Amino acid sequence: MLLSIKANEVLPIFIFDKEILFELKSDDKRVDYIFKKVIQLKDELKKYSLDLAIFYADVIDVFKYLKSKAYDEVYASVDYDNYAKKRDEEVSKIINFIPLYDCYIYEPREILKKDSSPYVVFSPYYKEAKQVYTKEHSLKYELETNKLSSFEFFDYINEFKENKLVQKTLSIDTIGFKQNSIKYEPPLKKLKKLKSKLIRYKDLRDYLNEDATSNLSVDLRFGTISIRSILRELITLKKQGFDTEAFFRQLVFRDFYASLLYHFPKLHTQDFRSYAPYSFNKDYYEKFISAKTGVPIIDAGVSELLTTGYMHNRVRMIVASFFCKHLMLPWQKGEAFFAKHLMDYDAASNILSWQWSSSTGIDAQPYFRVFNPYLQAKKFDKDALYIKKHLKALSNVNAKDIHDEDFLFSNTIKEYTKPIIKHKLAREHFLSESKKFLNN
Ligand SMILES: Cc1cc2nc3c(=O)[nH]c(=O)nc-3n(C[C@H](O)[C@H](O)[C@H](O)COP(=O)(O)OP(=O)(O)OC[C@H]3O[C@@H](n4cnc5c(N)ncnc54)[C@H](O)[C@@H]3O)c2cc1C
Repeated sequence: MLLSIKANEVLPIFIFDKEILFELKSDDKRVDYIFKKVIQLKDELKKYSLDLAIFYADVIDVFKYLKSKAYDEVYASVDYDNYAKKRDEEVSKIINFIPLYDCYIYEPREILKKDSSPYVVFSPYYKEAKQVYTKEHSLKYELETNKLSSFEFFDYINEFKENKLVQKTLSIDTIGFKQNSIKYEPPLKKLKKLKSKLIRYKDLRDYLNEDATSNLSVDLRFGTISIRSILRELITLKKQGFDTEAFFRQLVFRDFYASLLYHFPKLHTQDFRSYAPYSFNKDYYEKFISAKTGVPIIDAGVSELLTTGYMHNRVRMIVASFFCKHLMLPWQKGEAFFAKHLMDYDAASNILSWQWSSSTGIDAQPYFRVFNPYLQAKKFDKDALYIKKHLKALSNVNAKDIHDEDFLFSNTIKEYTKPIIKHKLAREHFLSESKKFLNN
């Protein structure tokens, strides 16, 4: 969301960036979600005698236009992925650009080591983050009473054709996307539920059928909830005696990943270190992305992602490990697959988590730890309820058999494929290839 200022008048604007939308399919759930939220925001702004001008354009064209209309400053909450950083640099060449660090708890340069270099290990980062934390980090913004600048075309989507502004119907079709019927739980409702979730969060967040996590990642991603309002809720709950530490730690994890991408932009595509000769096997990849590996927890996770746009954190860890270590596929391909489908897709969290899983990142999982997908499933989805929910073909198979690799190899299950890989052999192969690679 952006705000332009012209002689004490403000013009709140939202840009559907053509460069980003160009790469997405017309049924992308995220665009539908954002579109609905933008319309909601427009309505809310009207309650304060404001409004929202909506553009469907190249960002640069919008600011050239606004500059020509005498707007002189733009305020925007900034993000740290490479595209966003480059875009903001370009915008600041046109108009005075004032970044607001409001996506995360901390500013990227706020938590540094004594020698001013960035932390590369989470534990000391977290320790310092708690030291640095003050009341300011959870402050509520004062409401300003600036006057809305006049703009003719509030009730349209504004596009540029041959350098001229043209108005189109205010509808998602105009930007080439489709509505879907998914009902999204309002973020404030999720925030209210935090109280009951926190009691179980620390012990049960990894269990797939416990619904013990907040589901706030999508809202944090799109700014439909402020990180500061979550912090205020945590402060209230802490005063009431709730243990908020485990949840706060995860929020700081999100900041840690963002700060790593900010300080080490090369991590976008490159390994911090490398452990194995990853290579692209098209057959494995196709089976993975179509939930046909024959390993139930993997296929259930991918199926959850394809149908809902979400995947439980524990499953993301198991799936990413399987992709990189059992199938030995390059993490970049898995990252891109998640990026295409995750509702909460966030470059920093996704890239750094994939690098953690493939053991190629900063502060990553040691390369010799290879999750056993069957043991993980047995522990976190004991009765296979999660697996059965997302893989209808297994709905009548006993949980015991679902968690038994030998059973899956030696029996034919209607409409379900046999495993494409054996855990023990895949693990040994990965470890021996890694050792060869490291010795070279
Ligand atoms: C391979 C992989 C890819 C991932 N990709 C993304 C992604 O694109 N976007 C994303 O937001 N998260 C990503 N995560 C982190 C995590 O899976 C999600 O944040 C979490 O599942 C969201 O559910 P929740 O809101 O219920 O989380 P909760 O457990 O309720 O946590 C609260 C908030 O803390 C943050 N958080 C929690 N766990 C992590 C974590 N491990 N790393 C960073 N932040 C965390 C999230 O903002 C989350 O909303 C990824 C994890 C893995 C292993």
